[in-house]
Amino acid sequence: MIYKSRGENTELELFRTIQVRKRIGEKDENNYKYLEKGWLGEKQFDQLFLTLTNECLILNNLLFEVNNTQLQIDSLLITSKEIIIFEVKNFEGDIVIDGNRWHLPSGKEIKNPLIQFSRCESLFRQLLEELRFTLSVESKLEFINPEFYLYEAPVKAPFVFHAQLGRLFKKLDTLAAGSLPGGHLQLAEKLVSLHIKDTPYKRLPVYNYEELEKGIVCMRGCSFMVVASQNYLVCLNCGDLEHKESAVLRSVKEFRLLFPERKNTTSQVTEWCGVISSRLTIRKYLLKEYKLVTTGRTSHFVKKDE
Ligand SMILES: [Zn+2]
Repeated sequence: MIYKSRGENTELELFRTIQVRKRIGEKDENNYKYLEKGWLGEKQFDQLFLTLTNECLILNNLLFEVNNTQLQIDSLLITSKEIIIFEVKNFEGDIVIDGNRWHLPSGKEIKNPLIQFSRCESLFRQLLEELRFTLSVESKLEFINPEFYLYEAPVKAPFVFHAQLGRLFKKLDTLAAGSLPGGHLQLAEKLVSLHIKDTPYKRLPVYNYEELEKGIVCMRGCSFMVVASQNYLVCLNCGDLEHKESAVLRSVKEFRLLFPERKNTTSQVTEWCGVISSRLTIRKYLLKEYKLVTTGRTSHFVKKDE
């Protein structure tokens, strides 16, 4: 069972909206593409866990602090006999391994993912030790993309290629046979309680309110949306329709994350969303999730549950 879902990717959501609202540089563009691709790969990998029928616990997207070092885990599987750490890579094209060096056929060196990978396993073992939990730990590096080939990959390496995923999950299901001891569930609870939320701002491009183009950006991050009908907006690029209310509330959520210091007034939100000119409509939508707080002569909206 999925004990901890992957959740939302706030960093990617903010990146999507920024890169439509302003022209970003090459480095930011590359970061954005890397994030989009990585997230897509992880979501595809999540689907494979749904094929497991036996008793096991799946914990996705974990971040811990172990010995003052951050430990990030894409997916973790707890079975009665073993814990398996999964690192998912959505690489495409060809990569060549030459000793410890990983490079593209052109010769351009890329970061060897095995370095991070073995550090991750060792930190996780330390964490288990701190929690006084003994169970064997194994790690696997998944290459989820069928369009990827790794030259000179050693047979004994912990790699799982796209063509091997079906067999891996059959093996995992067999491994998960038998009931899960209660201590394993307690371990999962403990791990979730130790999970720390990462800041979504570390890799974002630099931005300020004035330079960002106003409007509602499609949730896929492809383009601005325009009015399609009385109740719907449409993305000019992918053609996705979204109800105006949900589009406005989604846009307000982005705005609050991008500019936490700015007050959520009706006129501010109307300006940010751009495409809906009626302040009354904006106010009506806002009241679904926000309440109006009046201080002196001004009033602004705050989240109902805050
Ligand atoms: Zn779109």
